[in-house]
Amino acid sequence: MSIGISHLSDYSIEPRYQATVVSTERITPDASDEDVRELVLDVDRPNLPYEIGQSIGVLAPGDPALGEEHHLRLYSVADLPERSDAGRPRIKIAVRRCSYIDEFTGERHPGISSNYLCDLRPADTLTITGPFGLAFEVPEDHDTSLILVGSGTGIAPFRAFVKHLYRNVPGWTGPVWLFHGARSGLELLYMNDRKNDFAQYCDEATFQAFTALSPRPSWAEPIAWHQMLTERADDLLALLTDAKTRVYLAGLEEMRDHLDEALAKVAGSPEKWTRRKAELMAGGRWVELLY
Ligand SMILES: Cc1cc2nc3c(=O)[nH]c(=O)nc-3n(C[C@H](O)[C@H](O)[C@H](O)COP(=O)(O)OP(=O)(O)OC[C@H]3O[C@@H](n4cnc5c(N)ncnc54)[C@H](O)[C@@H]3O)c2cc1C
Repeated sequence: MSIGISHLSDYSIEPRYQATVVSTERITPDASDEDVRELVLDVDRPNLPYEIGQSIGVLAPGDPALGEEHHLRLYSVADLPERSDAGRPRIKIAVRRCSYIDEFTGERHPGISSNYLCDLRPADTLTITGPFGLAFEVPEDHDTSLILVGSGTGIAPFRAFVKHLYRNVPGWTGPVWLFHGARSGLELLYMNDRKNDFAQYCDEATFQAFTALSPRPSWAEPIAWHQMLTERADDLLALLTDAKTRVYLAGLEEMRDHLDEALAKVAGSPEKWTRRKAELMAGGRWVELLY
């Protein structure tokens, strides 16, 4: 994970607080075999301080066979801070139901925390901790160009971030380019028939959204970042060489190599891209939330 703290065991799980599930809703269409759910949680801590781009820790019941009391996993907050009618902090998270294949036995195991969360029902309670992580900052200069790249559930923090920019930041004039990668069109979160939040910014002169899909999703072929980014190479290069531009990334770690490869083409060579990326990173203008 690339946001400063690299091991979950380094995270403090105190204080912990209870949260209650207000609603749970599948946000991938029925035709998709990916189960991604949006959970709305009311938190029993009136002054929970959290910022756009942060994550909460969920303490799912651990596996006693592994001597685990809790199974800690992090989830990005997927919307702006809100309050329930009773004044409790209300947060939304988007959770993808995961499973993994044991490389020795070949058996498929359900991911502990994601399945626990996806199976919760309204009025169930859970234990959470945090918030954690560096926030994606709104630049002080409101004409800064922003390149936001989210794959899979990595789009969740950008849903909150883009809403914040257009709702709460007066005089925002910087171009916002949102790149959303997913296995197929059915898995484009917040850009599908179930929920299409990003459509509301189409009228904003500064906002543009682009999507990249896997050419053969059933063969698990990687997302075609390369094609999507190189098709816009000239404009993208102009943004990437602007001294103020910021690039924010969120989603699965495997996205980093694919993006580096594609951006090397955009920049003209791997060496040119390595230099440019190093400049962005040194200036704190390349921020990753990868997992
Ligand atoms: C800062 C941060 C923010 C995160 N935000 C989100 C979020 O908004 N939504 C979300 O769904 N997840 C998010 N995650 C991932 C999440 O914390 C868990 O790792 C994920 O839900 C799997 O946990 P689990 O307990 O179900 O699986 P475990 O029982 O821990 O099993 C883990 C196994 O599942 C596989 N796996 C783990 N994560 C994924 C994944 N996302 N896709 C495919 N396979 C995976 C791996 O092969 C791994 O071996 C975030 C992670 C971090 C570090």
